[in-house]
Amino acid sequence: MDCAAPIRAEDANVRFLLIEDDAQIADSLARALRAGGDRVDVYGTCRDAEQALRSVEYALLILDLGLPDRDGANLLRDLRARNDHTPVLVLTARDELDERVRVLDLGADDYLSKPFDLAELQARIRAVTRRALARSGGEIAVGKLRLDLASRHADVEGNILELSPRELGVLEVLLLRRGRVVSKQQIQEHLCDWSEELTDGAIELYVHRLRKKLKSADVDLRTVRGFGYLLRDSAAAA
Ligand code: CA
Repeated sequence: MDCAAPIRAEDANVRFLLIEDDAQIADSLARALRAGGDRVDVYGTCRDAEQALRSVEYALLILDLGLPDRDGANLLRDLRARNDHTPVLVLTARDELDERVRVLDLGADDYLSKPFDLAELQARIRAVTRRALARSGGEIAVGKLRLDLASRHADVEGNILELSPRELGVLEVLLLRRGRVVSKQQIQEHLCDWSEELTDGAIELYVHRLRKKLKSADVDLRTVRGFGYLLRDSAAAA
């Protein structure tokens, strides 16, 4: 893949790979991710997952270490050895410093010890995928609007938009999930770095301001009543 290539609207559906042999954990995780609109492939063994990894470009690999046919750490080592930079979030049952250091040394982007809180896992997933996108020098373009994920600048036909940090945060999550409905809760979670609670009213205000600033951007920022918002190309909305 050409890393400099912009991320296009058709790439909007991110696909995750989950390698976890505990059916209960795999099931609840997959369900939570799918509820957020993401596609998830689930495998319980390294063998099946390795085939998938060679044929599909995943936005993220969530990797359990204790697998029936192979140590997940070996799969990670092989992945990095063949220069596959798919972001990897490791799930480990052992919460020991040595283990954490080993996992990061092998090239994991982050790790989480079991048992974990689903909300924390989702926050880690967002952080890992966001960092990976920024690293790739990616940009997202919809209509005449572009967002540079590394510098976090948004522009319309080269004219930089003046956005407050929160307006930028809201725009970022809408663009990352462009073409899909984003709930107010998802917006709140995306902005979770801020200490204060973000009310629904505040989100409505930021969206209102964004709409004004995006007037000439050829994007359609629609309110989905009682749920959230949908950002897409005006041409696609027509
Ligand atoms: Ca396991």
